[in-house]
Amino acid sequence: MKSYKKFQEYLQKELADIQSSGLYKNERIIVSPQDAKIKVSTGNEVLNFCANNYLGLSDNPELIAAAKEAMDSRGYGMSSVRFICGTQDIHKQLEKTIADFFGTEDTILYAACFDANGGVFEPLLTENDAIISDSLNHASIIDGVRLCKAVRYRYSNADMEDLEKQLQLAQAQRFRLVVTDGVFSMDGNVAPLDKIVALAEKYDAMVMVDESHSAGVVGKTGRGTTELYNLRGEVEILTGTLGKAFGGAIGGFTTGKKEMIEMLRQRSRPYLFSNSIPPAVAAAGIKAFQLLDKTNERQNKLHENTAYFNEKMKAAGFDIKPTQSAICAVMLYDAKLSQDMAAALLEEGIYVTGFYYPVVPKGQARIRVQLSAAHEKEHLDKCIAAFTKIGEKLGILS
Ligand SMILES: *Cc1c(COP(=O)(O)O)cnc(C)c1O
Repeated sequence: MKSYKKFQEYLQKELADIQSSGLYKNERIIVSPQDAKIKVSTGNEVLNFCANNYLGLSDNPELIAAAKEAMDSRGYGMSSVRFICGTQDIHKQLEKTIADFFGTEDTILYAACFDANGGVFEPLLTENDAIISDSLNHASIIDGVRLCKAVRYRYSNADMEDLEKQLQLAQAQRFRLVVTDGVFSMDGNVAPLDKIVALAEKYDAMVMVDESHSAGVVGKTGRGTTELYNLRGEVEILTGTLGKAFGGAIGGFTTGKKEMIEMLRQRSRPYLFSNSIPPAVAAAGIKAFQLLDKTNERQNKLHENTAYFNEKMKAAGFDIKPTQSAICAVMLYDAKLSQDMAAALLEEGIYVTGFYYPVVPKGQARIRVQLSAAHEKEHLDKCIAAFTKIGEKLGILS
C-alpha cells in the first residue's frame, strides 16, 4: 500500500543506522542438535560456549523419548488456553514437580519465563503497592513492572545500601515486593539473597527471585539461589524457564505461595490469553526434573567444569569477573577488541559471544563464556588454549 512507502524508508534508515553503529545482530545457523559440539551451516564443527544448555539436557535421549511418548499418547498441540480445555494430567504433574523441586507450595506454567514475568505483577499489586527492582533485572521483569500500576523503586545492582534506602521510601505504600534476578546474566554474579531477605524482613517486604540462570546451576544440588542461601521455601515468588538448564525447549513458570499462584490463574493475562504448552514439552519437562532428582552428577560436573575453567583462565592471565554461576565474563573493556577476539576464536573452532555497550556499560566490553555439564575436560582445555593463543596475538596477555 502507498502508506508503506514512507514507513519503509524510515525502517531502512533505522536498520542502516543499527548496521553502521555495529549493533546489528546476525544469526548463525546451526544444523545439528544443541550440544557441546555443534555443526554450523558452513559445514564447520565448533565447540559451543554460548548456550544456556547448562546441564547438557538439550539433546538428552531420555527427554527426547519422553517427548515422543507424550506425542503418541497426548497428541501434538492443545489448541486451547489452560482454563478452557488446555490442561492435561501432565500439565498438573509438571506444576507439582516444579514445586517439589524448589520446595514451594504451587506452580503455574507459562509459554515462557518472559510471560511469567510479564504476568506476575499486575494481578497481585495495585497503585497502593510498591515494587523495588534491581537495576540489572531482566528485560521481562522491566516490562512486567511497566504493566503494573504499583509505585516503582529501583536500586543499583546488588547494592544493599541502596536497597535499604528504597525500602525506606517504599514504606509509604501498602505492600512491598523486592524483585531480583538470581544470577545476573552479564557478570554471572548471584544476588545477595540472604541480605535481601533480611532487609525485606526488616522493612516488611516480600521477595521475588527470577531463577532463569540459577535454577539447575546454583546451589549444591542446583535448586537455585534459595538453596545456596539456605532459604528454601522462604521466598514468596520464584520465576524460571524450561528454556535453559531444564532441556532448553520452551516454557516458563511462577512458583511460590499458593494463594498468589491461585490469583495468577484467575487474573494473569499471559496465562489466560495464551496457549497451553504442548504435551511433548510438559512430559520432557517432568523428565528433566526427575533426572535431577535421581542424581546430582550433572550439577556436580557443571560445578567442576566452571571451577576448572575459571581457575585456568585466571592462571593464563585473563581478567575474569568473580562468578558464582556457570557464566564466566572474560573482561576486555574495549568493544572492538571483544568482537575481534570472538571472531578469531571462532576461526579456532570456539564459539563465544562478545558483548559491549549497550548490552553492558560503556567501557565494560567482554566475552561471555557459558559452561555446561556437556563439556568434557578436553573441550575446556581446547577453549583455554584458543583463548591464550588469541589473547597473546591480540596483545591482551603479555
Ligand atoms: C532467559 C531469561 C528469561 C526469559 O526466559 P524465556 O523462557 O526464554 O522467556 C527471563 N528472565 C531471565 C533472568 C532470563 O535469563
